Amino acid sequence: MSHHQHHDVLVVGGGNAGISLAAKLRRDGCHDVALVEPSPVHHYRPMLSFVAAGTARLADLRRPQSQAMPAGCRWYASRVTAVDPARSTVELADGETLTYGDLVVCPGSEVDWDALPGSREAVATPAASTSYLPEHAEQTWTMLSSLTAGTAVFVISDQHVPCSPVALKPLLMAADHWRTVGTLGAIDIELVVEGTHLVDHARADQELRAAAEGYGVHLRTSTTVDRIDPAQQVLHLRSLEGTSEVRYDALYLAPPHRAPSWIAASDLSSESSAGFVAVDPLTLQHRTHPRVWGLGDAADLDTLPSGGALRKQAPVVAHNIAARRTGRPMRHYSGYSIAPVTTSRSRLLLAEFDRHGRPEPTLRFPDLARPRRSTLVFDRYVEPQVYWRRLLRGHVS
Ligand SMILES: Cc1cc2nc3c(=O)[nH]c(=O)nc-3n(C[C@H](O)[C@H](O)[C@H](O)COP(=O)(O)OP(=O)(O)OC[C@H]3O[C@@H](n4cnc5c(N)ncnc54)[C@H](O)[C@@H]3O)c2cc1C
Repeated sequence: MSHHQHHDVLVVGGGNAGISLAAKLRRDGCHDVALVEPSPVHHYRPMLSFVAAGTARLADLRRPQSQAMPAGCRWYASRVTAVDPARSTVELADGETLTYGDLVVCPGSEVDWDALPGSREAVATPAASTSYLPEHAEQTWTMLSSLTAGTAVFVISDQHVPCSPVALKPLLMAADHWRTVGTLGAIDIELVVEGTHLVDHARADQELRAAAEGYGVHLRTSTTVDRIDPAQQVLHLRSLEGTSEVRYDALYLAPPHRAPSWIAASDLSSESSAGFVAVDPLTLQHRTHPRVWGLGDAADLDTLPSGGALRKQAPVVAHNIAARRTGRPMRHYSGYSIAPVTTSRSRLLLAEFDRHGRPEPTLRFPDLARPRRSTLVFDRYVEPQVYWRRLLRGHVS
């Protein structure tokens, strides 16, 4: 007999995915749910974009993790270092070993500085920043708001960036600010996007291009940053037309992301999943280990990772864990995702779509893919309350 602590369902990662799922499982009557999460603080990450645009503070998005933990859920305040799916064991950094009935892997993704040479060194200087890490979000606004002339470059990678279109929020809100204070004409704004679109939703893409054009933004799509030279403040770019260089006075990065390396080392990824958890993108069940599940930014789901997507993923995983045990049919996830993007400091549009880029609006009316004041108020002030009070409490269906 093993003397390891056993849990009916063990969840790895207490971010948006892990907490929503654990709370949903508890609501559905699952008695023994445990969660492994090392951080003492829970972040409402969508608010980071507003911090980077100077309209929110870091304190607005942080709460003690103990307040986010679902009632009746055992919390291991440690980090998973390895999983052995053949033996159903999970190793923690503090030396403890746990066993499970079902395992849910959702530790999110992490910034991959190595994928963009010079990026780590660049964000250590006052001339470059990112909204993608809490420790840099406030500096982003310091940098953008203190720029009065010169070149501001915004770079959006297409390598697994969580909810990547929201990287346009600091850009379009800063441009609106520069227009108000009268410096817009003195600032050249360059937007360098690795993908072909700003968002995978045709109408919203048009709206965002029009908004950018209205501020005089020079947009380059299908363009990759090969490396950054932080000493000279130069970006080395590559596109179909060849290579080029751009000098910057202020640089904003939505940097490449990757999965935590222990996922691949634990036989949880596959050749095609690039280190992410290799699940069936419809059922979210692991492709080779049927008692392992994946959701959120760490899973290979063939759609834009986002918090909004978890509203649909968490109930599918909760249902399918029970369905596997009882032999009921499994539910499917459509690939639904969402990108709320400000077009100014007073308007926002919501693009909602499935994994094929087909619109999947929550409401038929009004058309939320059009920039509106009411949607900005919702995203900035109402959605955080919905997050803490409903989504993290497992009110998802
Ligand atoms: C700047 C920014 C703005 C965004 N804006 C929006 C938005 O407006 N709308 C939207 O829908 N989405 C947005 N997102 C995306 C959204 O935040 C993510 O998709 C969502 O947080 C994913 O949840 P997750 O639980 O999969 O990952 P995370 O939220 O990253 O949580 C993962 C958790 O796992 C923990 N963990 C990591 N490693 C281990 C380990 N080894 N063992 C145990 N635990 C571990 C981490 O500490 C963390 O708490 C934004 C993201 C960022 C960064």
